[in-house]
Amino acid sequence: MALIRTEGLSRAFTLRSGAVTALEGIDLQIEAGEFVAVMGPSGSGKSTLMHVLGLLDRPSGGHYAFEERDVTTISRDEQARLRCRRIGFVFQAFNLLPRHTARENVELPLIYARLSPRDRRERAADALEAVGLGHRLDHWPHQLSGGEQQRVAIARALVNNPAIVFADEPTGALDTQTGADVLALLAELNRLGRTLVLVTHDANVAAYAGRIITLRDGRLVDQGWQQARLMP
Ligand code: ADP
Ligand code: MG
Repeated sequence: MALIRTEGLSRAFTLRSGAVTALEGIDLQIEAGEFVAVMGPSGSGKSTLMHVLGLLDRPSGGHYAFEERDVTTISRDEQARLRCRRIGFVFQAFNLLPRHTARENVELPLIYARLSPRDRRERAADALEAVGLGHRLDHWPHQLSGGEQQRVAIARALVNNPAIVFADEPTGALDTQTGADVLALLAELNRLGRTLVLVTHDANVAAYAGRIITLRDGRLVDQGWQQARLMP
C-alpha cells in the first residue's frame, strides 16, 4: 500500500516582496515499511515537504493521498485529527517541554486519545523503555543529555503507534557518536516495521535509509528507486 502518494504537489508562499515557490511538481510515493531520506541543500524545500506530508501545512496545488485517502481538501480539524492519530514528528531541537518530566512529555500526544491517566502513564513508560530510557522516567529535560532528550522525543513520536514518523535533521544538534546512536535507534525502529522519513542535508545521515530522494530548488530530482533496488 502506498502510505503516501502525491501528484504535482506544490507549495508557494506569498511574501510582500513577491511569491516564493518552495515546492513544485512533486510526484512521490512512499510505501508502508520504508525508511526514506529526503536530501537536498539548504533551502531546497525539505522542511516544507515534511510539513505538507506531515499535515502540519497544506499544499498550494496538486494532490496528496495519505493511506490512500485524499487529504488535499479535508478540513483543518480533520487534518489535525488525522495528524494526531497517525503521524509522529522528531525535530532537530528535540522540542521537549522543560517543566514536564520525560514521562509527562511522552504522555502529551495521548491526551487526545481516550485513555485513563493510568493507561497513559503506562503507555509512556513503555515507549521510553523501548528507546532505552526506562530508567529516566521522572527526569527533567535539563537533567538529560542531548542524545537522551532526542530519544525522549522519539518515544513521544511513537507513543500513539503512528503509521509514519517524520524526523527533520534529528541529529543536527548532536555530536557524531550520539547522532550515530540515534540513527541506529531509528534504523532499528524501521527494522521492526515503522515507516520513517528522515530529512537531512548530510549524506552520512541519509546513508542509514533504504532510499534517498533528492530535492533541488523545490523539485524532486531523484526518487532513489534505482539505488533501493541495488540494496541487498
Ligand atoms: P530546507 O528545509 O531544504 O532548508 P525549506 O523547506 O525550509 O528548505 O525552504 C524552502 C524555501 O521556501 C526557501 O526558499 C524558504 O525561504 C522558503 N520558505 C519556507 N518556509 C517559508 C515561509 N513560511 N514563508 C516564506 N518562505 C518560506
Ligand atoms: Mg529544513
